[in-house]
Order: sequence, then structure tokens, then C-alpha cells
Amino acid sequence: MLEAKLARKKHANDRSSIVISGDCRVGGKELLLIGGPCAIEDMDQMKEVARVLSTSSINAIRGGLFKPRTSPYAFQGLGADGLTIVEETRKISGMPFVSEVMSKEHLDIALDHLDILQVGSRNMQNFELLKALGKTDKPILLKRGLSSTIEELILAAEYIMAEGNEKVILCERGIRSYDQSTRNVLDLGAVAVLKQMTHLPVLVDPSHAAGRADIIPDLSRAAIACGADGLIIEAHPVPERSVSDAKQALTLPELCELIHSLDGIARAVGRSLPAPKRIPARKVA
Ligand code: PEP
Ligand code: MN
Repeated sequence: MLEAKLARKKHANDRSSIVISGDCRVGGKELLLIGGPCAIEDMDQMKEVARVLSTSSINAIRGGLFKPRTSPYAFQGLGADGLTIVEETRKISGMPFVSEVMSKEHLDIALDHLDILQVGSRNMQNFELLKALGKTDKPILLKRGLSSTIEELILAAEYIMAEGNEKVILCERGIRSYDQSTRNVLDLGAVAVLKQMTHLPVLVDPSHAAGRADIIPDLSRAAIACGADGLIIEAHPVPERSVSDAKQALTLPELCELIHSLDGIARAVGRSLPAPKRIPARKVA
């Protein structure tokens, strides 16, 4: 793929390590482990997420402000009203925050409040959005399109990089297929191929691949074993009350247990888990 001048690996050991914020990085030995709900719903929900996840090796928090929903009548996210919750969550947890932007307008609203800007699956080939993100200096989590090839994903990354922002993190989140047992099919072959072809960090999102909570721990361990640089996983204080993607949400203790179970596999492939943040209880009052 000659056109992927910037994303393509220059030599066998060419690996980019991207600084997220403070001592949080992705692409080095330490994994990037992102956890949190599909959508930000209220302050109590996010405080509980920060409190529980800070006892684990999770080192970044997710939560959607702007939600790309299949139906226009479904909850679309709190939008700009959720920014104070993002700020409070960042403050009490001390962890970077990840959220999706779907347009230039969203980017203008949320840029200063987010540490990683996510491009969702449905927008992987929204080239004007990619170009706008390329003009920022924030790390971009670029999710593979629902039915996109690996080459299309790499060229989408190239759009961002060609504008000057080389901090692109690729994400395999499952692709559409005919089987109804899972929401999508997790393509771990793509992780191996992406790591062979590009120098960019590669994350795996087992939540949107599976669409069901019960197999997320197995998929997560498989992803780390096959070379992923980290994971992004959905969890909610009360999964059945989640306003979106309830069936794939883990409870917060389930996510902590899953993360703990990655330790042996991470070591076996030469990686390590981040140290827990452990925020003092009084900060979450
Ligand atoms: C999400 O992360 O909540 C999301 C909508 O993901 P995707 O774009 O992969 O469907
Ligand atoms: Mn979701």
C-alpha cells in the first residue's frame, strides 16, 4: 500500500508510542486499558465509574457525549450538557477521558475537554471529519468501519496523519457478518495484520464486537495474547439500566476482575498492566 506513506511501517521494529497525558501512553510495553459506559448519563454514574475503576489497572475512562444511534428517536447523548461531568470525572480520577465526536461542530464543543477523540465505526470514512481531526494535536482513536477492509482503515488513518496529526490509535471493533450469535465478528487477524503493516498502536473493543457481556473476558484475553496494545471495554454501575448498549455492559466489579485476569497473559507476551490509580475516598464524596 504505497499511498500509506505515514502509517506504514518503515522497518520491522518501527513502533509508535503515543503520549495521552501525564504518564499515560500507548504503544509501549504498558497496555492502555479504557473502561466506562457507552454513554454519559449523569454525575453519580460517572463518579461511581471513576471510584471503582481507579482500584483496577484501567488507566483511561470512556463515556459517550454524542451517541451515533441507529434510530433517530433513541437517546442521542447529553452533548455539551455532559461536559461538566467529563471535567469532574477527569478531576477526581486523574485519568484521561475518551469520547466520540461525529462532526466538526462536536469537535469545537469538546476538544478542550477530552484527552482522546474517538472516531466511531460509522464515521471511519467521514473524510472531512478526519481532516479536521488531523489539524488538532490530540490522540485520535480511529475505529474500523462496520464493513471496512484493513486497507481502508489504514488509509483513513493516513487522512488524519497527512494533515499533521500523527497520534493515531487504530481500533478493531468487530465487522459485520452473517452469524447472529454475536453482534459483530471480532477480527483478531486484523490486529496481527495491522501490527505487521503499520507502526501505529492497535486497540481492541470486544464490547461492540460481542454485543453481549458474557464472552467479553475471553475476547479481551485473546486480544492481548495476539498483540493488541490495549482494550476499550464498556461497563456500567447497573448494566440493565444503561440507556444504550445495555446487553454488552459489564458491571464495574466484573470489569475489574477481567482486567486482573489479563496480568499473566500480558506478561507472557512481554507487556504489563498499568498501576492502579486508587483515588482517595473523600475525593468522590
Ligand atoms: C461506542 O464506542 O460506543 C460506539 C458507538 O462504537 P462503534 O463506533 O465501534 O460502534
Ligand atoms: Mn456503545
